[in-house]
Amino acid sequence: SQIKDAVLQFVLGVTSALPESVLPEFAFAGKSNVGKSSLLNALVNRKALARTSAQPGKTQTINFYRVNGAVYFVDLPGYGYASASEAVKASWGKMIERYLHEDKQLRAVFLLLDLRHAPSENDVLMYNWIIDQGLPAVLVGTKADKLKRSQLEKQKKLLRETLGAPKETPLILFSSVTKQGREELLRLVAEMAKQ
Ligand code: GDP
Repeated sequence: SQIKDAVLQFVLGVTSALPESVLPEFAFAGKSNVGKSSLLNALVNRKALARTSAQPGKTQTINFYRVNGAVYFVDLPGYGYASASEAVKASWGKMIERYLHEDKQLRAVFLLLDLRHAPSENDVLMYNWIIDQGLPAVLVGTKADKLKRSQLEKQKKLLRETLGAPKETPLILFSSVTKQGREELLRLVAEMAKQ
């Protein structure tokens, strides 16, 4: 799939109003360091559209990238910094919850999970948040290049089982190094944007 154009259009803080967008939105969630910035950059063929490895304690924002003038990729702040203060964790939760709950253009949430590990408690919480809002979840196993083929099958099973995700829920193996999964992911976005 061709990405001709990607621009950062809105940045939401804790108290910002949701943008009055009319384009379909696809959100990307995951714990910090899962490879979310790398994935977003790989999707749009940029080196540094999305920030990489944001530092703990830095301002947490929801960033809207308009892609091809047709959809938004919405970068949700990464979670799971052990060192984040309770105040930061609470404001993070409020911001995400409000967005998932109130944004009418949101079509699906891509939940990124590092294929090398079992999903964390926060991953399970995030998955349940998505489902509870009645939103389609797409699971994305990241850093696929780091595993052998035999391990990949085992980890896919572990991800599904830990989250309790039915087999209808798509699970895409992704690598921002080899670009594995890029076309599949963009195809899903294109399909869901039409619905
Ligand atoms: P974020 O915090 O979720 O935005 O994660 P980043 O995209 O900044 O990636 C965190 C670290 O994982 C960085 O050192 C990346 O180079 C590395 N990384 C991200 N994606 C991949 C991948 O697909 N394969 C490999 N081998 N490393 C990756």
